[in-house]
Amino acid sequence: MTGHPQTLRPFLSRAARLYPDRELVARTADGVVRYTYAKYANRVGRLASALRAAGIDRGDHVATMCWNHDHHAEAYYAVPNLGAALHTINPLLPADDVRTIVAEAADRIILVDASLAGALTEAYDPDAFESVELTVVVGGEVPDLPVDAVGIDAFVTGHDPAPDYPDLGGDDAAGLCYTSGTTGAPKGVRYTQRMLWSHTMAILTPAGLDISHHDTVMPVVPMFHINAWGLPYAATAAGAAQVYPGPSPDPADLVTLIEDEGVTLTAGVPTVWLGVLDYLEDHDADLSTLERIVVGGAAPPERLIRAFDDRGVEVVHGWGMTETAPVGAVSHLKPELRDAGYETRLDSRLKQGLILPGLEFRAVDDDGSEVPHDGESMGELLVRGPWVTTSYYGRNDDDEAFEGSWLRTGDVVTVDGNGYVELVDRAADVINSGGEWISSQSVENAIMGDGRVREAAVVGIPHDRWGERPVAYVVTDADERESLIDAAAERVREAYPDWWVPDRFEFVESIPKTATGKFDKVGLRAGFEGSLDGSVDAEPPGEG
Ligand code: ADP
Repeated sequence: MTGHPQTLRPFLSRAARLYPDRELVARTADGVVRYTYAKYANRVGRLASALRAAGIDRGDHVATMCWNHDHHAEAYYAVPNLGAALHTINPLLPADDVRTIVAEAADRIILVDASLAGALTEAYDPDAFESVELTVVVGGEVPDLPVDAVGIDAFVTGHDPAPDYPDLGGDDAAGLCYTSGTTGAPKGVRYTQRMLWSHTMAILTPAGLDISHHDTVMPVVPMFHINAWGLPYAATAAGAAQVYPGPSPDPADLVTLIEDEGVTLTAGVPTVWLGVLDYLEDHDADLSTLERIVVGGAAPPERLIRAFDDRGVEVVHGWGMTETAPVGAVSHLKPELRDAGYETRLDSRLKQGLILPGLEFRAVDDDGSEVPHDGESMGELLVRGPWVTTSYYGRNDDDEAFEGSWLRTGDVVTVDGNGYVELVDRAADVINSGGEWISSQSVENAIMGDGRVREAAVVGIPHDRWGERPVAYVVTDADERESLIDAAAERVREAYPDWWVPDRFEFVESIPKTATGKFDKVGLRAGFEGSLDGSVDAEPPGEG
């Protein structure tokens, strides 16, 4: 016996029947647009019919280059409902990367925001875009584009809002997303219907993001970045109201949407919420409906969690990656920690959290042995489960990122006695000094604890004797550099062994960033000038 396959379509058809009047709201260039789930399902149907008339079939790739808005939300269901993969292109990637991934994905149609036409044109190359038959423009007039273009209204007009969708199986295509390439060239992850279905069900649960029909969900995390953490699917599945903040929302836009729409749950990277906090210092706002802010993609600073706690809003910390669709862990408090003091609870909330039900995990050392769960021993995190990919799109399955069904996450973690995973570095960034690991992120955080430091990035630079030694790049407005170096070194020494103190501090105007705003450590290492053969103050324990 088998049940009916796990596919995305029933999430929307159920919501349209049970919550026909619940709203989907979007901030657009033309003001706020709102319509009901009943209309949402019709608009999805019309877009799917139009795509099918344009020749889109099972297994095809339809791309989007769009902000978070109604048209993008429609594509989220219209494309997978045909068994095609929705390839969400990150318009902030360098043009070269966009060119490469369009060629590799062989996208047939691209839905593009009028305001992002420039990014598409810049990436255009006749060979790379050979598969692209049409661009469909949303959010404005059809601009000059190097590929045949049509406006969304003209594209969908006259098409059936209630098509007979094909019968799909769990292995049919649903999505395609490329990593942002923080540690190398972007790699594609193709999601099946079953992967996105299982991810949706997991994040709906209390162990995930606990989303229900009581919620009004506003994904600030871009829909071009790992399916906006799966929120558009989960919110629909739950029958929650949805709010999309549109092109480049600033803190004032976000606060206005929270107030006007009664948002209960929102999500985005920590920098977004630090911006909102700054804004709130000078502006009155009514955040009384807001219960939870999901943060992930980077570790939230402690002050972010404290400041929102003071305002009665819970910051929910999650971990994930493109390869895990993306949510893999969420830092909810275990019952045994509920009655602990605030600082103890905060320590656990700052960790990347408890692996979600349905996934398995291991943290292993260089020899592949599991490290003890003592909160100190570092190992690379391996995960597997129904929504974790086992290969990259278009590449050999024997890629070193996979060990059978296990994904090597490239994240270096500790696991504490309660099972909370804490990410201490990326495997590509961890510094191997004399055979011992130094967590570059821990050293950065220690240095950034000095109020005079605006930003600090720490990278491993080749060293004759020790293999690698840490070098810190520091951004500061302060003039007293020597005393700043002494204080930073002291902070590192207080928390970690002496030999974790960087050999050199370089003062720079700014730290280079990748397309998703992470420190570009590959660039920093490549740009390092000189050599590090001087001896270090305190020597690492091993011989390199
Ligand atoms: P890329 O690998 O190109 O950066 P992703 O967007 O898939 O692309 O990033 C996933 C990575 O982001 C994770 O492997 C991890 O290093 C980092 N990350 C995700 N969530 C967190 C978090 N809560 N804290 C710290 N780092 C995180």
